[in-house]
Amino acid sequence: MALSGLQIYKLLPQTNCKECGYPTCLAFAMKLAAKQADLAACPYVTEAAKLQLEAASAPPIRLVTVGGDGARLEAGNETVMFRHEKTFYHRPGLFIHMRDADGAEAIKAAVAVADGYIVDYVGIKLGVDGFAVEAASGDGVTFAAAVAATRAASQKPLILVAPDPAVMAQGVEAASGARPLLCAADESNWQKMVEIAKAANAPLAVRADTLEKLAALVEEIKKAGVEDLVLDPSVQGYADSLTSLTQIRRLAIKKNFRALGYPVVTFPRRTANGEVDETVLAAEHIAKYAGFIVLESFDPATLYPLLVLRQNLYTDPQKPIQVQPGLYEINAPDGHAPLMVTTNFSITYFAVNNEVEGSGWPAWLLVADAEGMSVLTAWAAGKFDAERIAKAVRSTDAESKVNHRRIILPGQVAVLSGELEESLPGWEIMVGPKEAVDIPGYLKVMWGEKVG
Ligand code: SF4
Repeated sequence: MALSGLQIYKLLPQTNCKECGYPTCLAFAMKLAAKQADLAACPYVTEAAKLQLEAASAPPIRLVTVGGDGARLEAGNETVMFRHEKTFYHRPGLFIHMRDADGAEAIKAAVAVADGYIVDYVGIKLGVDGFAVEAASGDGVTFAAAVAATRAASQKPLILVAPDPAVMAQGVEAASGARPLLCAADESNWQKMVEIAKAANAPLAVRADTLEKLAALVEEIKKAGVEDLVLDPSVQGYADSLTSLTQIRRLAIKKNFRALGYPVVTFPRRTANGEVDETVLAAEHIAKYAGFIVLESFDPATLYPLLVLRQNLYTDPQKPIQVQPGLYEINAPDGHAPLMVTTNFSITYFAVNNEVEGSGWPAWLLVADAEGMSVLTAWAAGKFDAERIAKAVRSTDAESKVNHRRIILPGQVAVLSGELEESLPGWEIMVGPKEAVDIPGYLKVMWGEKVG
């Protein structure tokens, strides 16, 4: 049962020393009650109080880790219904489905291709998170060979899908050391699946076709000694997915209902009508509220939008994606190349960088520290002004890189020209275009004119 802020406060040292980062013990207690602070932040809690508080401050959705050393995926530990309330922490893993009946060699080749797929999205590397191997053959030896083939081609986390515990046991043996997610225990097989999960110290998915049955089965399995659980509510299509996954999340977070306080695994293709339908359903599951999503096959055309959607939802809205401030070289610039300035908001940086790179113009791109904001936002917030730009010019030693004294401002902040002239005496301030897409044309006309 969750404790209230006042109940938690009574268990804290009540010295208001502020070491936890909060002004008083009561403020810290309120944050703990709201699941927005970590008990470890207070170094003075007694062991007795810690035991009581840890139980009460356990996350409403258990953190479950799949995978072994080096390649692990964590799901759960979420604290809010909506991203704007705070943030979402653990991105749902995107797994690619493999059928053991396809044969070890075919599986190895398919896994190698999907494993090697990495795309660069605003400086972040995105790719598949793991593979789900299904015992479609119903044969333990074939299943074990498929698991071994997957492991030979990738060290990414695994989901093993086998309804027969004897077949599952052979797959688990072949995945030794990989700590796969076992999928799934249901009313008919759960006792044997529990034994396999306990022996392998592996997380176990629990499947049922109603939330009532799911909660009851989870309680049985917990009593049998497996704590790392994942829910498979067997969702059917868009409406059922939305309703069931939202109910699970709401019951866990708002009602602290422990029996459903676990991440969820989904298989969108089970009910989807083809690849496009599957992709749209997977997008729904990313938004609300899957922890593991198994895609039927690997296709970059459908995977990429899912990866980008996930990336955009699972970033902290209070922390914009940033690039390192500094002086960047584009197309091997020399001393005659233009010097352009922008902010360190990742999307702004890549928009400018891509346009210049694509134009073929060599250029120096000075990225000023604007706390990760875009040009106009940073200017309005006082984070991108003449003083900061001048400081960036000096700190990066841009003056020694170019043999001219011209700097190109983003058109959105043309208003800074006068101030920048004062902050950078002897420099000519040029005003660039407002949109990155117009940079190539601008350089051709305006810079071309300057350098003859
Ligand atoms: S660190 Fe502990 S004792 Fe100090 S203010 Fe925070 S909760 Fe209170």
